[in-house]
Order: sequence, then C-alpha cells, then structure tokens
Amino acid sequence: MRPELSEYTPIYSGKVRELYAVDDEHLLLVASDRISAYDYILDSQIPDKGRVLTAMSVFFFDALGVPNHLAGPADDPRIPESVLGRALITRRLDMVQVECVARGYLTGSGLKEYRANGEVCGVPLPAGLVDGSRIDPPIFTPATKAAVGDHDENVSFERVAADVGIDLATRLRELTLDVYSRGADIARDRGILLADTKFEFGRTPGGELLLADEVLTPDSSRYWDAALYQPGRAQPSFDKQIVRDWLTGPDSGWSTDSGTPPPPLPDDVVARTRTRYIEAYERISGLSFADWPGAAA
Ligand code: ATP
Ligand code: MG
Repeated sequence: MRPELSEYTPIYSGKVRELYAVDDEHLLLVASDRISAYDYILDSQIPDKGRVLTAMSVFFFDALGVPNHLAGPADDPRIPESVLGRALITRRLDMVQVECVARGYLTGSGLKEYRANGEVCGVPLPAGLVDGSRIDPPIFTPATKAAVGDHDENVSFERVAADVGIDLATRLRELTLDVYSRGADIARDRGILLADTKFEFGRTPGGELLLADEVLTPDSSRYWDAALYQPGRAQPSFDKQIVRDWLTGPDSGWSTDSGTPPPPLPDDVVARTRTRYIEAYERISGLSFADWPGAAA
C-alpha cells in the first residue's frame, strides 16, 4: 500500500512544484501541471505536464553521469498513487542559493544585457552577436533566486563568490559548464539545440555537492529545433511557444503590458501544448511517454 500524500508534511510550495518531507533525510518533490508564461501562473493547467517534466529530469539524471539528489526510482513505494509519475524521492539538501545558468546561445535576458553593455553577467562577449548567436565556449551566467513573483536577477561571478565564497563559486561554475555540455551533446545527437539552462545544487550534511531540483526540462531550459535554427531572429522554442503565440495573438484579447493576468487558454491550445511537451520528451530521450509511470491525465 502506498502512503497517502496527506501523510507527508508539506514544506514548500513553489510556482510549479511542491515539496513534502518524507523523513529527516528525504523529500518528495511533486511537479504540478501548472504552467507559467510572461511571469504569470496561468489559470489553465496542461494535463500530464508534471509527468512529462519528471520523466525528462529522470532521463537526464540517468544520462548525465554526475552525482545527483535522486534517492529512488520513479515508482518508489514511498510515492503516493495520486502523484505517481510526477513525483520523485530526493535527498534533502541544503540548497545553494544561486541559480546556476549556462548559456551556449545568446537570447532572452542575456541578449538584453549584451545589447546594453557587450557582456553577460560580467563576461565580455565578441561584438556583432545577434539574437540566437552561438556562444563558444559556453558561459556561466548566474542569477540570484528571487522570491515567488519576482524576477531572478543576473549577477556576476564575483558577486556569487562574495555570497558563497570563491571555492564554492568556482566549483559551481565548473559543474554548471560541465553538466551543460553533457546535456547539450545528448540533445544535439537528437537534432535539438540546448540554448541555455538553469541548474540548482545542494549540499548533503556530509558536505557533498549534488545536482538537485529538476534538470534539463523545458521549464528550466530553452530547447530549439536544430533544423529551424536561424540566428538573427527569435527561435521557435520547443515548449511554451504555442501558449505565448496565442496569448500575444489577436484571439486572446490580452497583451503583456495590460497589467492584468492572462485569460484561460482554449482547449485546443491546451491540447497542442500537451502534445508538444510529450514530443519534446520522446524526441530528446528516445523513450515512449506511454511507458512512464502514473495515470494519464
Ligand atoms: P521557480 O523555480 O519556478 O523560480 P521556485 O524555485 O520557487 O520557483 P519550484 O521550482 O516550484 O519553486 O520549487 C522547487 C523548490 O525545491 C526550489 O526552491 C528548489 O530550490 C527546491 N529543491 C529542489 N531540490 C531540492 C533538494 N534536493 N533539497 C531541498 N530543496 C530542493
Ligand atoms: Mg525552482
């Protein structure tokens, strides 16, 4: 008999995930079907999104070959039936309060900074780069973790070193760039570019630094179809493009600068987004989502 979710103590509720204490050393990390866009959590959920992102994380934790926080399989008996497939048992870590971002392509907040001053997080880049330009070698562009509702703030390596010490900062940079390049190689073999991604690390009571949180999911990463890649414009992204296009298009009656929350998504936008997430998982992992544990939504 699997335990009920109510038997675990809730300890944190984030934008898209919930944490429960399993015991002193272990957590249940539950991914919801919530989706955010333009800094809003939408009223509409994407069925199976939590399971797809969990499947994606597990695929990469296995494939990356770096020490991580997983403490059991996806069908671990400690996982309640109600969240099976979208929850994982992890080690309970002391999280390093740094969003460890690696960028191999220039876009988003990196592009904005580059246009303002020719560098990203204090890393100078060559002149003449455009939206989507490759950054070679990839760069470490850390950010501070913002409270719910706030933007994460890009910071320099020196700022991270001042916060956590030069040794840990150096280690975070090395690990981040190493894990990024492993992930990018795996994706590239499948015709997908890993433009950028965010990792979180945490320490065990014994002081070991482990890769934690979710890894290389479409929520934490920008994935682009290599076949459609064309620097000099915004690249179609592998996940929320359908949602963003509808929200900013004529049918939603909403605009990003309206200052009001976005309207609910029509059923076909929800359905197409769900399909897109499953496609991303199956294409990158080469696995079938039908084989993943848990009941389909
Ligand atoms: P967002 O990531 O969307 O900016 P958030 O970080 O507040 O928001 P979630 O990502 O939804 O919220 O929640 C996951 C939380 O779990 C994060 O605070 C993350 O640091 C934490 N976490 C991940 N893995 C572990 C772990 N092994 N031990 C302790 N905390 C963890
Ligand atoms: Mg998070």
